[in-house]
Amino acid sequence: MSVVGIVPAAGSGERLGSAGPKAFVVCGGRELIDWSLDALRSVCDRVVVAVPEGHEGPDRIRGGRVRSESVRLALEAAPEATVAVVHDAARPLVTPALVRACIASLEGVDGAIAAAPMTDTVKEAAPDGRVLRTLDRSVLWRIQTPQVFRADVLRRALDVDHEALAAATDDAALVEAAGGTVRVVEAPPENIKVTRPVDLQLAEMLLTARG
Ligand code: C5P
Repeated sequence: MSVVGIVPAAGSGERLGSAGPKAFVVCGGRELIDWSLDALRSVCDRVVVAVPEGHEGPDRIRGGRVRSESVRLALEAAPEATVAVVHDAARPLVTPALVRACIASLEGVDGAIAAAPMTDTVKEAAPDGRVLRTLDRSVLWRIQTPQVFRADVLRRALDVDHEALAAATDDAALVEAAGGTVRVVEAPPENIKVTRPVDLQLAEMLLTARG
């Protein structure tokens, strides 16, 4: 088994309002991506990162126009992978234990993805704001990364046109669309994604509290 970590880190960080790419903003005294790399490197045989143009280097390949394209390009650089651990650079609270739990849950399925139970009530509304229905939150999950896949299944799932890659908000959706089986792995809700400035402050607080 060859476990390769795939880190999409080629986003611009527009919503964060940072001067440079999001993966390299300072969070808790180091670059945001470094927290994820520590966790992945302690579990994976190798880690390949998709970076913005100008940040290329050994195991740092230039990313794509959309997130899933960045994942596809990084996975292409790791043909030896039998298991792929995809993890967003934007989630610095990931732990080696969570990565290991996802890998262990791959038994009998094509994908095992970190997820937190839904605590808010979720409703579906029309564009004008009128509520259409209230969903049963007991069966709903907030999906995170890491997302771990059998590498051959993920390669096939990513072999789709640009529109399909652009429409996917996570890699598991592409695997599901290709007929693959995916299960959720309960993960801590504090494994947040840094998107807006407030998320960066929250991540710093959580990383500091973790010590
Ligand atoms: O923008 P968003 O927060 O959804 O991005 C999730 C992750 O995907 C981030 O780590 C970002 O750097 C990465 N990404 C990428 N290539 C893109 C767009 C986003 O690697 N073209």
